[in-house]
Amino acid sequence: MNQFKSIFLGTIGKTEDMAQLKRAVDTQKCIRAGGKHNDLDDVGKDSYHHTFFEMLGNWSFGDYFKKDAIAWSWELLTKVYGLDPNRLYVTYFEGHPETGLEPDFEAKQLWIDAGVPEDHIIPGNMKDNFWEMGDQGPCGPCSEIHYDKVGGRNAAHLVNMDDPLVVEVWNNVFIQFDRQADKSLKPLPAKHVDTGMGFERLVSALQDKSSNYATDIFTPLFEKIKEVTGARQYTDKYGKDDVDGIDTAYRVVADHIRLLSFAIADGAAPNNVGRGYVVRRVLRRGARYARKYFQTEIGSFFSRILPALVEQMGEQFPELVKKQDDIKEILDEEEVAFAITLDRGEKQFEKYAAAAIKAGEAKLSGADVWRLYDTFGFPEDLTKLMAEERSLTIDEAEVAQAREKAREASKAVKEAVQTFPKLTVHHIAELDKLGFARTDSEPKYLKGDL
Ligand code: ATP
Ligand code: MG
Ligand code: MG
Ligand code: MG
Repeated sequence: MNQFKSIFLGTIGKTEDMAQLKRAVDTQKCIRAGGKHNDLDDVGKDSYHHTFFEMLGNWSFGDYFKKDAIAWSWELLTKVYGLDPNRLYVTYFEGHPETGLEPDFEAKQLWIDAGVPEDHIIPGNMKDNFWEMGDQGPCGPCSEIHYDKVGGRNAAHLVNMDDPLVVEVWNNVFIQFDRQADKSLKPLPAKHVDTGMGFERLVSALQDKSSNYATDIFTPLFEKIKEVTGARQYTDKYGKDDVDGIDTAYRVVADHIRLLSFAIADGAAPNNVGRGYVVRRVLRRGARYARKYFQTEIGSFFSRILPALVEQMGEQFPELVKKQDDIKEILDEEEVAFAITLDRGEKQFEKYAAAAIKAGEAKLSGADVWRLYDTFGFPEDLTKLMAEERSLTIDEAEVAQAREKAREASKAVKEAVQTFPKLTVHHIAELDKLGFARTDSEPKYLKGDL
């Protein structure tokens, strides 16, 4: 919704083309692998979160509002798409007295008017039913629509319970406030609608599949992975049912190639900050899954899956076709770079994990997590995942402490170099190892001798 923000806030210039816009429909390329919306840790494990997905949307800019949005979304799902109304559940905002927000009984009534039985209408809290993009900006109460994959029962109690068979498919947001820096809510000059429907989730409902990964969105990618790795067939098993972990690896690789390709096609490149680090983290996570579960060599793995994605989505998203060579080059380069440390890093991890387990620890120390990052390029989420496989946790605060300590040390080294121009970083590191005295503000390596 970023590109529409100035319309919502009423700050758009009257001469701008978009100022004339009253309504829009679109499919948005969505990435949720960092920041406020981060689903990376779920990917591979559950059947309905991806790092990259298509979000179908309809928008009203000061035009239609709650009444029409609700009636039309019900009509679209039940009449046009033909989903069974008995399997659909809707939610409305229950209010938040602490901040003076009223319950959205208007939405509740409008759902009743649209024909939804009352026992399929559920109140929801601030977290689920008040949509905010970030800490500031346009926001408002929302009504979500959930679909029961089982049917023949009342599944109202399973809504918002992270049940893989009762899944949120669509969110209707009624944008009417602007969250200020001081956290207060300012009413917007006009009321707007911003909805988001997960394409992959909708398809799994329409194709009557229990999982997004069992739809024909993922089949071509799985076939390609099978061809490239020689792995067994994908069987859509989860958790403990996925005994050899192969299905999980299939899901991770298929999900990650989508994120990687679309992000790179849109100009992101792997590096250590911001969106570049999202690309790097996701590639490294995927590469490790591929090596561990498919025993593939890392170096040009993802680029061999890429043609299947380009063939599948290139028509709707021509940037994939246009940028295919760049995507391949960047993926290969990044994979080769990681391949150098992946093996040694895994061995080092095993040592740390074995030591922690032997010492009766339930977690990997922050210093170990940091060293795996600093020396071997293991993103924290990857180490966390590997730790989980050993039933160990990691403590984010401890990792942050280790990171801070390392930052201070490197700052001190830099200062030392400035103070003593002839001293190389290598010398200082050696001196550090020998335990020579040094303060951060005034490096004192045997002053005079250097
Ligand atoms: P959930 O509660 O399942 O995590 P959400 O409430 O975070 O979803 P919204 O921010 O409301 O999701 O996004 C609108 C729609 O986008 C959702 O109703 C869902 O269909 C889809 N969606 C959200 N996150 C994902 C994801 N990680 N993968 C696939 N689809 C998603
Ligand atoms: Mg979510
Ligand atoms: Mg939700
Ligand atoms: Mg939602």
